[in-house]
Amino acid sequence: MSGAMTVRRSLPDAEILAFDRGHDASYSMCGIPMYLGGEVGDWRELVARSVEEFAAHDVRVRLRSEVVDIDAAARRVRVRDLQRGAEYEEPYDALLYAAGASPVVPDLPGVRRWGTPVRTLEHARQLHAVLEREQPGSAVVVGGGYIGVEVAEALVRRGVRATLIDRNPQVMDSLDEDVAAELAGILRDFGVDLRLGESLVGVEGDEDGRCRQVRTDRGRYEAQLLVLALGARPASRLAEAAGCRLGARGAIVVDERMRTGVDGIWAAGDCVESLHLVSAQPVNVQLGTHANKQGKVAGLDISAALSGSAARGAAAFPGVVGTAVTKVCEWEVGRTGLSLREAREAGLDAEAVLVEGTAKAGYLPEAGRLLVKLVGERGTGRVLGAQMLGSAGAAKRIDVAAVWCQLGVRVDDAQLHDLAYAPPFGSVWDLVQVAARKLSAELGLPSAL
Ligand SMILES: Cc1cc2nc3c(=O)[nH]c(=O)nc-3n(C[C@H](O)[C@H](O)[C@H](O)COP(=O)(O)OP(=O)(O)OC[C@H]3O[C@@H](n4cnc5c(N)ncnc54)[C@H](O)[C@@H]3O)c2cc1C
Repeated sequence: MSGAMTVRRSLPDAEILAFDRGHDASYSMCGIPMYLGGEVGDWRELVARSVEEFAAHDVRVRLRSEVVDIDAAARRVRVRDLQRGAEYEEPYDALLYAAGASPVVPDLPGVRRWGTPVRTLEHARQLHAVLEREQPGSAVVVGGGYIGVEVAEALVRRGVRATLIDRNPQVMDSLDEDVAAELAGILRDFGVDLRLGESLVGVEGDEDGRCRQVRTDRGRYEAQLLVLALGARPASRLAEAAGCRLGARGAIVVDERMRTGVDGIWAAGDCVESLHLVSAQPVNVQLGTHANKQGKVAGLDISAALSGSAARGAAAFPGVVGTAVTKVCEWEVGRTGLSLREAREAGLDAEAVLVEGTAKAGYLPEAGRLLVKLVGERGTGRVLGAQMLGSAGAAKRIDVAAVWCQLGVRVDDAQLHDLAYAPPFGSVWDLVQVAARKLSAELGLPSAL
């Protein structure tokens, strides 16, 4: 819809039609854990724009309308009206394919019947309704990525005994083990029953159709609710059938203007692959921040193409560095670039330092703990990645490191960047620069202070 609105702004006379098989037009998925936890009182607050609001901009949105086929040669889509069951065709000059990703639901006994993924606003409404109506005493969340962690916290906030299960030995695989261990401690202290290194085996319910027990390869857990947060696969099947090339993890290959290589088809969001600017590898990173930017770039390029000018759109999507942030039980957790493990797996000669300090000047009350891990490359001296965890100051500080990663800044240069300082926000040597100084020495960089 970001692409659609961009085209609308550029081309006031274009006819714009959007199809979505779901029940809602444009909403914040990112706010779903907050709705489940009660911080957001009504799901309607998560809706960014309704069908009526799009119509006011002359963008027609058809909900419960599934695109079932794309004929790229004839430039037509076939659409199934999910309410009436009828199918019809619509022609297009330009098609933006932004089908997102499909949640992973393992084919294990009882999982499909009793498990609910967290992917759409409809899932959120279903889970919320069970929480309100049945007031479950216990729940199991499977998947310890940031979504599973956020949902487990939300459940505990509502007074539900929540067990979080992941087959990996740590939570949030995108963090290094040492930072993830800190996060695991925070979750346990908050009351989440964390079960790591355990794989889901099946689910059992009772005769009245209620979920009762979740089985893993190491135990059994009582659960009146089962939430699935096992990740999502790029929804690229239709695009592939239309001739689009797939790459990393089944995501659609696009150029920097979000063109797929098939005439008339652009793609954006969770279903596409992006260039990782640190590893130089194609990746599929599913985040709203990228989806919105890519939608806009695609919209600009589509507008340029439709306006008949031979010129390509001016905007280009450069790639990603994997910056992500979340708030867990009053703690901020951020990561960017490559973790030490990822850097070494990518064959880079990487080193890291972990420093601990305070989120405010140490003499202030409640100065709060802050951890910074910085990863750099021997030889080039460039910043490869960072991870931060703090009672405050981690979430936005990670953006400093994100820019270092994106611009290929050297660790020793980073130590002297002009960053803001006042006691309520940190120490006179900001902790990211303390980390940069230590890492410079570790990497043997000549200008280490
Ligand atoms: C619980 C949760 C929390 C999140 N938190 C964050 C966060 O804090 N920060 C962040 O950056 N990102 C976050 N994300 C990720 C972010 O929401 C996604 O990256 C973003 O929504 C992707 O946008 P998209 O347009 O590519 O896909 P989607 O938003 O999934 O939209 C795709 C749409 O396509 C429709 N569709 C699919 N196939 C068809 C078809 N054949 N016909 C018609 N319609 C179809 C679907 O119904 C869907 O509405 C979160 C995601 C979840 C689930």
